Amino acid sequence: MDRLLTSHNELLTFSPVPSQKPKVPICNPSPKKTPHLEWRSRTAFTRRRIAADASALLELVPEAKKESLDLDLPLYDSSKSPNMDLAVIGGGPAGLAVAERVAAAGLSVCTIEPSPNIVWPNNYGVWMDEFESIGLLDCLDSSWPAAAVHINDSIRKVLHRPYARVDRRRLKSKMLSSCIANGVRFHQTKVLRAVHHEARSLLCSDGTAIPAAVVLDATGFSRCLVRYDKPYNPGYQVAYGILAEVEEHPFELDKMLFMDWRDSHLDSKLKLKLRNAATPTFLYAMPFSSERIFLEETSLVARPGVAMAEIQERMAARLRHLGIRIKYIEEDEHCVIPMGGPLPVLPQRVVGIGGTAGMVHPSTGYMIARTLAAAPLVADAIVQYLGDGHGGAELAARVWRELWPIERRRQREFFCFGMDVLLRLDLEGTRRFFDAFFDLEPMYWHGFLSSRLFLPELVACGLSLFAHASNTGRLEIVARVRFLWLI
Ligand SMILES: Cc1cc2nc3c(=O)[nH]c(=O)nc-3n(C[C@H](O)[C@H](O)[C@H](O)COP(=O)(O)OP(=O)(O)OC[C@H]3O[C@@H](n4cnc5c(N)ncnc54)[C@H](O)[C@@H]3O)c2cc1C
Repeated sequence: MDRLLTSHNELLTFSPVPSQKPKVPICNPSPKKTPHLEWRSRTAFTRRRIAADASALLELVPEAKKESLDLDLPLYDSSKSPNMDLAVIGGGPAGLAVAERVAAAGLSVCTIEPSPNIVWPNNYGVWMDEFESIGLLDCLDSSWPAAAVHINDSIRKVLHRPYARVDRRRLKSKMLSSCIANGVRFHQTKVLRAVHHEARSLLCSDGTAIPAAVVLDATGFSRCLVRYDKPYNPGYQVAYGILAEVEEHPFELDKMLFMDWRDSHLDSKLKLKLRNAATPTFLYAMPFSSERIFLEETSLVARPGVAMAEIQERMAARLRHLGIRIKYIEEDEHCVIPMGGPLPVLPQRVVGIGGTAGMVHPSTGYMIARTLAAAPLVADAIVQYLGDGHGGAELAARVWRELWPIERRRQREFFCFGMDVLLRLDLEGTRRFFDAFFDLEPMYWHGFLSSRLFLPELVACGLSLFAHASNTGRLEIVARVRFLWLI
């Protein structure tokens, strides 16, 4: 199994051939941290290694096309307004959410992003109550009143919690329009680095230097400027997804499939079955109609991450077993999410939000709802502290405190513990874990998945999970706690 690292959505695999020149992102991770990296084109990488089933599936994948929004973005002009209050690096959901709100308070904001008008590529799924609480129900395009979980061939659970897919075009369009209305300026390039002057300057790949009082790194998993001082050792969620037109599929239209841990599709493929038993993957599906569906084979978390080609092979076997014949693939998604690992150095001069700031849920890989809910805290802190005359390191320290107060750090530790438990479970252990997890009171499993529980409730949740677990499940939990205690 190859080891996976990620630069945004591209795969970087550890190469056994050190003589090959590493291709590394401009910013973090630095070549020092990620030796012997080799980037292989997606096609070359997958074609060489996958079995016939999977390659037949991949042949249906169309050329990736990037959808663009038709919005007229006001550009940053250094001759008119050289000094900005805030420079936001990255125009993903995290960056735009902060830019929009800080500009609404009357501060000058510049967003630096190489592709500001391109629709985000990821298929975001959320629990509907999460988007309701942040007033974004209008940015969902499909929803399901319930979700289904197959633990194995005989245990199926129905989760009565509505789930939805984010209308990423609408969400980005809404956020960009609001940025434009509030006076945000855009600079279309990549940031290379930041240098410390009185007003901090960002050096861009086109040679522009943009001075800004506050610099916000919102570059997702590229982690452009935010510094980490501990070895970066996350687990990886790896998934392969397709949005497809199919002849038919077996799923109910009023339920999304949250997790399907069945493995009978691998009965005739012993080697795959054994690998899946050790490092399991599950199917996640959003059925839009009887002929249109999003299907994603997912490794919840593994270290090193499961190779994409392996996931594609398992998915092809599963679809064939389920009798799902693909007529056409509209788009595919290569998903690699680093989970857990250390937090960035707290505090530091550059502030961060989103993927770059360790905000991915370490046990689930979800993040968008939590980030959009946290963006007002970060934005309001910037506005308040700049308004009070604070700047530099002092302001940054206060903003970091808003983002990562002690109770959030403790919560993250608990979620990282959850990740460590999951990392070490094989298929049978994973099944026992989720069998007990989804039997918890809804307030516990909802709150855990949506980062709404804090330490006392998390401890109660852990105890309740223990009480619901089978004897084998309890032994596994105790073994993990002891193991973590000893390391
Ligand atoms: C395929 C995939 C599917 C996911 N699905 C879900 C999901 O269903 N639900 C969920 O909650 N979470 C999901 N996530 C996790 C998380 O919500 C997303 O990764 C989310 O997009 C992170 O938002 P962000 O704004 O932090 O970073 P991003 O969305 O990654 O945006 C970062 C931006 O920074 C820009 N950038 C990078 N480097 C530079 C630079 N040097 N200079 C200037 N700009 C730069 C990039 O162009 C990019 O636009 C998914 C992640 C992936 C990868």
